[in-house]
Amino acid sequence: GLNNWDMQGSINRRKTRPVWVGDVCIGGGSPVVVQSMINEDTLQIERCVAAIRKLHEAGCEIVRLTVPSLAHAHAVGFIKQKLKESYRDVPLVADVHHNGLKIALEVSKHVEKVRINPGLYVFEKKDPNRTEYTKEEFESMKNKLKETLKPLIVTLRDQGKAMRIGVNHGSLSERMLFTYGDTPQGMVESALECVRVCEELDFHNLVISLKASKVPVMLAAYRLLAKRMEEEGLDYPFHLGVTEAGDGEYGRIKSTLGIGTLLAEGIGDTIRVSLTEDPVNEISVCYGILQGLGLRRTMVEYVACPSCGRTLFHIEDVLHQVREATKHMPGLSIAVMGCIVNGPGEMADADYGYVGKTRGYISLYRGKEEIRVVKEEDGVKELINLLKQDGVWKDPP
Ligand code: SF4
Repeated sequence: GLNNWDMQGSINRRKTRPVWVGDVCIGGGSPVVVQSMINEDTLQIERCVAAIRKLHEAGCEIVRLTVPSLAHAHAVGFIKQKLKESYRDVPLVADVHHNGLKIALEVSKHVEKVRINPGLYVFEKKDPNRTEYTKEEFESMKNKLKETLKPLIVTLRDQGKAMRIGVNHGSLSERMLFTYGDTPQGMVESALECVRVCEELDFHNLVISLKASKVPVMLAAYRLLAKRMEEEGLDYPFHLGVTEAGDGEYGRIKSTLGIGTLLAEGIGDTIRVSLTEDPVNEISVCYGILQGLGLRRTMVEYVACPSCGRTLFHIEDVLHQVREATKHMPGLSIAVMGCIVNGPGEMADADYGYVGKTRGYISLYRGKEEIRVVKEEDGVKELINLLKQDGVWKDPP
C-alpha cells in the first residue's frame, strides 16, 4: 500500500517484463494500456471494422473481439485485412473460449494476442462422487493442459505473439474448485499452473488477468498473484478488470474501485472497464482512472473547489465555460476557485488559476502568482488571453 508511493506521491509500479501486442507494449514500465472489446458479431465484417475503428479513435489502444467458431476465426482475417486497408493495423486480441484449440490456432494468424480461460479450455470429466483430487491427479491434469495448449503456445511463441491467461472467478476448473474452493487462491493457482505450462515451452509473452465481479475478490486475487509471482521470481504483466460491473454511475464506481485500488498499489499494466453500455463509453473512464492517479496525462487537469457560502461567482457555469474553452490542451492544469481563502497553495500547483476576488471581479493566476484582476464577465476571455500571451494556447481542432 503506502510504501508504493514515493515522497512525491507518485506510484511505484510493480516491475514487469514488456509484452508486445503489435506495436503496443504492455508492462516493462510503459504507460498503462487502455483496452476494450467490441460487441458486434464477429461474422459481420464491416460492422466489426467500423466498431474497432470507432474504439481505436476514442483512445482504445488494443481491441478485443470474440471468436466462438472457426468461421469467426476466418472472419477475423478479413477484419484485419480491411482495417489495414481502410484505417490502420489496430492491435487485436481474440477471445477463444471452451476447448477451442483449432479456432485459436486459426485466429492466431490474424491477431496479435489470444486470450484463453484455462478453467474452460481443457475439459475434465466430471465425477459426481468425487470430492477431492490427489497430487498425482493434479500433476497429470497439468500435463494434459500442457499437451492441449502446446500447439497454440508454440505457434504464438514462434510468431512472436502474446497470450492472455484470463482466469475468471465464475469459471474455475473442477479440480481447482475442489482443492482451493471458489476463492482468490483458486484463481491464482489456476493462473500459475498455466504460466508454468507456458514457461516449460519457453513462451513468455504472457499477460495475466484474474477478473471477478466482486471487487474485494478481484483485489485479493491480484494482490495474491503479485505476491506469489514475486516469491517465484516471475514478472508477467497484469490485465485488470472488474467483470459484470453493470452500467451507469455504479458500474463506473465499481470498476474504478477495483482497477484504481490496484493501480494505486503499483499493480496493473493494462486495464479494461467493462460496462453494459456502448464500449466507447469505457474509454473515458479508463483515462479518467489513469489521469486521477497521475499514471497518464491525456486530459487537462481541472482543479475546482466545491464552492460554499463564500463563493463570489457561479462556479459551476464558469468551470463549464473554462473546460469548453481549454479541454483540447492535454497536459495543462487549470484551477477554478470560488475564493482565495486559504491562499494559492490550495490550487494544487495548477498551471493557471481563475479565482474569485471581490464581488464582480476575479483574479487570474499563473502558478501561485496573481497576474491580473479582471471583471467577472471578461474572466474566461482574459484567461484565454493569458494563455495566448504565455504561448501555451492552442487553437481547438
Ligand atoms: Fe468556499 Fe472559497 Fe473554499 Fe471555494 S475556495 S469552497 S469558495 S472557501
